[in-house]
Amino acid sequence: MPEGYCVKCKAKKEIVEAVEEVMKNGRKAIKGKCPTCGVVMFKILGGKAAVTAAPAASASAPAPAPAAKGVNQPS
Ligand SMILES: [Zn+2]
Repeated sequence: MPEGYCVKCKAKKEIVEAVEEVMKNGRKAIKGKCPTCGVVMFKILGGKAAVTAAPAASASAPAPAPAAKGVNQPS
């Protein structure tokens, strides 16, 4: 079970009913509940799993640009 910090209990708790989610930026997060008070807990994972995706590479490489030049334009 993943652990998270419950703001209501002000203590570290196990996250129950944990569901792994992928956020828009490609990072993984754990969403679940506090076993004591039931408050929704959300833990963003360190991004270690997303390292292989290399989000920085896609931002600096304008891949679509050269491809668009090769398109046959109807004249
Ligand atoms: Zn709690």
